[in-house]
Amino acid sequence: MPARILVIEDNPANLELVTYLLRAFGHTPLAATDGREGMAIARQERPDLVLCDVHVPEMDGYEFARRLRADPRLRKTPLVAVTGLAMVGDRERILAAGFNAYVAKPIVPETFVTDLDPLLPEGLRSSPESAAHAALGSAGEPAHRVLLLDDSPVDVVLARVILEPLGYLLEVVTEAQEGLERMRSGRPDVLLADLEAVSGTVDVLAEIRRDPRLAGMAVVIITSKEGLENDPAILSRLDGAGLIVRPLEQRTLAGEIERRLRGKVN
Ligand code: MN
Repeated sequence: MPARILVIEDNPANLELVTYLLRAFGHTPLAATDGREGMAIARQERPDLVLCDVHVPEMDGYEFARRLRADPRLRKTPLVAVTGLAMVGDRERILAAGFNAYVAKPIVPETFVTDLDPLLPEGLRSSPESAAHAALGSAGEPAHRVLLLDDSPVDVVLARVILEPLGYLLEVVTEAQEGLERMRSGRPDVLLADLEAVSGTVDVLAEIRRDPRLAGMAVVIITSKEGLENDPAILSRLDGAGLIVRPLEQRTLAGEIERRLRGKVN
């Protein structure tokens, strides 16, 4: 059974990452971007656990903790501080304020959610989706190499969290030229490339089709623009590449890569 976990975080990238990770591990995230909103949601929803960035607007984490512990209906809710603070004494101050535990930023995506398990009732602990997927490349087969051409840190983390548990070797480059050089020095099994954030992705595709060493390579394009899959002008320039629309989701990304590796599409 999933836990309902309230995330209070004012940084949009962190909020997206944390809620994504919670969903990926089977939980139901509730989100707030400041302490006041967080308290309102906590009172209304009575979550199973609260993750709170210490530095949030309106009501900071310390005040949030104080009010949570003062509320008879919420005082037993597990409360975890998520903070970039690294000063000596902060840990003690955080625990003294009423937090049960403390997670330092940047968070470690692979262990972030399972680290919360000891604070949750047994029936609500995480169930990684990855455990339900067989790793690709059965016994003895080398892992498939995926080259990610993308300058969005969130995409990089999401791709890592989604693909590495499935057995893929992920390499990351942030610039088109670097990506081409990497492909020419050792052809990856799949190129995963961001259409918008990396200048020149369309040119990279043209280069791939021109280069005999890279011809026929599986390519999957990531885009933020919904409806692109119906735009014939764009499609002709993508030249048969797969197209997936953000936000990156495990099923879509892993499925598209797997289909292309199996050669079901060209
Ligand atoms: Mn913050």
